[in-house]
Amino acid sequence: MADDLFNSFMNGPDEDGRFGDFGGRFVSETLMPLILSLEEEYEKAKTDETFWAEMHDLWTHYVGRPSPLYYAERLTQHLGGAKIYMKRDELNHTGAHKINNVLGQIILARRMGKTRIIAETGAGQHGVATATVCAKFGLKCIVYMGAHDVERQAPNVFRMKLLGAEVIPVTSGRGTLKDAMNDALRDWVTNVRDTFYCIGTVAGPHPYPAMVRDFQSIIGKEVREQMHEAEGRLPDTLIAAIGGGSNAMGLFFPFLDDKSVNIIGVEAGGKGVNMKMEHCASLTGGRPGVLHGNRTYLLQDDDGQILEGYSISAGLDYPGIGPEHAWLHDIGRAKYVSITDKEALEAFQLSCALEGIIPALEPSHALAHVMKIAGDLPSDHLLVMNMCGRGDKDIFSVARHLGFDMSGQDGR
Ligand SMILES: *Cc1c(COP(=O)(O)O)cnc(C)c1O
Repeated sequence: MADDLFNSFMNGPDEDGRFGDFGGRFVSETLMPLILSLEEEYEKAKTDETFWAEMHDLWTHYVGRPSPLYYAERLTQHLGGAKIYMKRDELNHTGAHKINNVLGQIILARRMGKTRIIAETGAGQHGVATATVCAKFGLKCIVYMGAHDVERQAPNVFRMKLLGAEVIPVTSGRGTLKDAMNDALRDWVTNVRDTFYCIGTVAGPHPYPAMVRDFQSIIGKEVREQMHEAEGRLPDTLIAAIGGGSNAMGLFFPFLDDKSVNIIGVEAGGKGVNMKMEHCASLTGGRPGVLHGNRTYLLQDDDGQILEGYSISAGLDYPGIGPEHAWLHDIGRAKYVSITDKEALEAFQLSCALEGIIPALEPSHALAHVMKIAGDLPSDHLLVMNMCGRGDKDIFSVARHLGFDMSGQDGR
């Protein structure tokens, strides 16, 4: 049931940026004016037709939207139950959904007269999308990346450099995504005048979680129309993988008020949620706390220290989850499950073999949950999974896990 505050699940967050007990704006006084001016500018843009016209023009001609809604016929036959559709966001320019959101934030930055864009990145996908759009608009781009990730993600570091971005390895803390996000926030406070902070998922202080969700909602809006065209009705179940939760929120949001639509988020279960923190399932295995300016479910130890988490998929190892997911989880509007590395690898291979689609390891988690439930559903049940990224970036780690020798070719 929705909070009193919301007569619709789609009205959130409240004016303080809260989704129930989650979200908000836990930032230093120095950061507050920046956040408020961003919020003001976004509120203006939201109802400005010229803003959305520019977005749609670039979505169409630069990103390649709308992405297809594809009926996965052989997968459907193989699993023998629900009719499975894939939302093909892996076909976007730069290979994932990240660019949907980056475009929105960069257009906003340009409207605010900002010339220097900073971003944080873990696996490098958000960094690549940001570097791409900055190159397109001739903006200076600085990407903070944990030193550990810089080593692990060499191809994406090189891509960002080719695109003209400066990549700053972060050695503070443990040199991971969480630390990169802290350094980006510090940079923002220091370079107030000309700098815009482009966040890659539905995290950070208000208005970021709502703003990123709004930009990613193009995914769900298209699915609504495309499903109507294909089947003449709403889908029955939506499934998406969750790191911070932006591709999932993008798919889910336009359907939140349609009570007949089941909504399932899939977290990274790593080696299993029961084993000590060898997973990234913030909702299943974490508890509420404050990180990066908002209150949400986090992976933390007994003293409230943020834990790193583990997943075969680098794009899923954010130690938190977007506050709107935390809220949807607590009020029961969406269900959250976890999938292990092993299950994701099986789904990865099945998609290759049956559909000719090499998926990223992140959506392979979503697909693995489809494999678990599709067979028990009736054949007229319409299931949509978000194929939010392509697998080119992951073939080396998959090869390693499957014991395929690629030595001499991956530069390791
Ligand atoms: C970054 C990434 C994710 C995780 O981010 P969300 O904000 O949870 O969507 C998932 N899939 C792919 C392909 C990604 O690049």
